[in-house]
Amino acid sequence: MQYGDFYFPLPANEPVLGYAPGSPEKAALKATLKVLKSGKIDVPMYIGSQEVRTGKKVEMRPPHEHKHVLGHFHAGDASHVKQAITAALAAKDGWAAMSWENRANIFLKAADLMATKYRTYMNGTTMLGQSKNAYQAEIDSACELIDFLRFNVHFMSEIYRQQPISGPGMYNRMEYRPLEGFVLAVTPFNFTAIGGNLPTSAAMCGNVVVWKPSNTQVYSAQMIMRILREAGLPDGVINLVYVDGPTIGDVCFNHPDFAGVHFTGSTGVFNKMWEIIGKNMSMYKSYPRIVGETGGKDFVIAHQSADPDVVVAALARGAFEYQGQKCSAASRAYIPSNIAGEVKKKLVAAIKTMKMGTVEDFSNFINAVIDEKSFDRLETYIKAAKKKGSGVKILVGGNCDKSKGYFIEPTVIETTDPRYVTMCEELFGPVLTLYVYDAGKFEEAMTLVDTTSPYALTGAIIAQDRQAVERATNRLRNSAGNFYINDKPTGAVVGQQPFGGARGSGTNDKAGSILNLYRWLSARTIKETYNPPVDYRYAFLGEK
Ligand code: NAD
Repeated sequence: MQYGDFYFPLPANEPVLGYAPGSPEKAALKATLKVLKSGKIDVPMYIGSQEVRTGKKVEMRPPHEHKHVLGHFHAGDASHVKQAITAALAAKDGWAAMSWENRANIFLKAADLMATKYRTYMNGTTMLGQSKNAYQAEIDSACELIDFLRFNVHFMSEIYRQQPISGPGMYNRMEYRPLEGFVLAVTPFNFTAIGGNLPTSAAMCGNVVVWKPSNTQVYSAQMIMRILREAGLPDGVINLVYVDGPTIGDVCFNHPDFAGVHFTGSTGVFNKMWEIIGKNMSMYKSYPRIVGETGGKDFVIAHQSADPDVVVAALARGAFEYQGQKCSAASRAYIPSNIAGEVKKKLVAAIKTMKMGTVEDFSNFINAVIDEKSFDRLETYIKAAKKKGSGVKILVGGNCDKSKGYFIEPTVIETTDPRYVTMCEELFGPVLTLYVYDAGKFEEAMTLVDTTSPYALTGAIIAQDRQAVERATNRLRNSAGNFYINDKPTGAVVGQQPFGGARGSGTNDKAGSILNLYRWLSARTIKETYNPPVDYRYAFLGEK
C-alpha cells in the first residue's frame, strides 16, 4: 500500500576526503589498516539466509606484500551456484512486491553506512586487498560506490515517473517490472565500486541477483555484502559466490530462468559469454539482457598547440594512477614533434619522482599490480621491448621485482612504429607507449588513433587551438565513449561523466546513469477504458 508519490531528488556527489597529514580521516584510516593487518578474516559465501563455508579455503594476500595473509574465503563449486539461483528465485516475489520507497531506502542506508561507519573499512580492505593507495581507494570504494547507490535511486525515481499520456475516457500507465528470472553479476578486480554497482543496480530495479566477484576483490566485496545486509537487504536478493569463471557460466547460462548478465571485465571473457548465451537461446524463457563493459586501449593525442605541462600531467596521472589498472588508463600517446622533446624530458622527470611501495606508507604514489599472473604478463612485454632489435626504446622504468610484492616500475616505451604491439593491445599495467608524429600531420595522427585498436573506451585531446579541439571531437567521435578535452582520460564521476565505451569496449550502457537501469527493467503498458464500447461496428460501416 502506498499513500504518497515518494520521490528521491538528485543527490550531490560524495565529497572526496583529502587524507592530508594531520587530518582526522588519515588517522582513522591508518588505525583501520592496523586492525585489518593484525587479524585474519574468514569469509563465507552468502547464499539466501546462509553463510556458506566449504572448507576449501583460498588465502587473500596484499599484492604489495604477498607473504602476509589477510584471511581466506571459502571457494564454491557448481552446486553453490545452483543453490544461489534457487535462493534468488525464492526471494524474487517478496522482493519484487516490496514498495519502491522501502527498496530504495535499503540502498540509501547502505550508502550512508559506507560514507560514515564503514568508510575506513571500505577503503582499508580495498587498499590492502587490491593494492590501492588511500586516494585511489577513496575515489573508488568510498565515493564512487556511494554515488552509484544514491544516484541510481534518484534515476529509478525518474524512471517510475515517466508515464504515457491518456486520451479521453481512458487511463494509460507504465509499470517498470523487474525481469523474469535472475540476473548474474560478474565483476572485475580493479574497482570495488563496480563490484558493488553491478549487483545493486539490477537489484534496485526489483531483480534478484547471483554475484560473482573476481577472486582478487573478495576482501572488499565481502564488506559490501555485510553492509547491504546490515542495511536490510532481504536474504536471497543478492547472493555472493566465489567460483571460477567458467563454472559460473556453465550453470547460469544453462538455466531457463537466466534473465541477464551484468558484466565488467575483459573483452575476451565477454565475447565468450555472448557466444554461449547465443547458442543456448532456445532454452531461456525470455531474451536475456547482455550488458558488458570491457577492455580499453585508451589514448591521449596532443596537438602542436598543446601546453607540454598539461600533456605531462595528463599522462603521468592518466597512465600510472592505480598502476595503470583502470579500464580508462592512458596507454598510448601521440605527441607532436614540436613539443616531443620537452614532453619526454618532463614526463621522465615526473615519473622519477613517483615513489613505489606499500599502501600503508601514504607517500607511495605507485603500489603493486594485482597478482603474479598480471606481473608475469607485463614483464614479458617489457622484456620484449628491452631486447636488441625490438625497434623501441624504454625512456624510463622497465624494472620488475616480485620478491616482496608484484612491483612493476612505471614504464614509458617510445616507438617509431605506431602499430607496435604495446600501441595496440591492452596491457593493464603501468606501461605507456609514446609515438611522436610529424606536428604538421594531425589528421594522419587522428586516423592512427581511430584505427589502431579494436577498443573505443576513453581518449583525450590536448590542445589550445580551438579548431584542433573541434576537429578531434568530430574525427574521433566513435573512438571513445568517454572523450576528454585538456584532461586525463580517467576519473569519471557518477552523475557527471556517465561511463562506457563502444566497439570492443562493451555495450556502452553507461554505468551510473539512467541508461543502465533501463536494461534491468521490462516495461508493461496498461490501458484502462472507462466506458468500453458494446458494439463492434464502427460508424464508417454505415453506407448512408
Ligand atoms: P577478467 O575478464 O579477467 O575478469 C572479470 C570477471 O570475469 C572476474 O570475476 C572473473 O573471474 C570472471 N571470469 C573470468 N573468466 C570467465 C569466464 N570464462 N566466464 C565467466 N566469468 C569469467 O577481468 P579483470 O582482470 O578482473 O579486470 C580487468 C579487465 O576489466 C580489463 O580488461 C579492463 O579493461 C576491464 N574493465 C572494464 C571496465 C569498463 O567499464 N569498460 C571497467 C573495469 C575493468
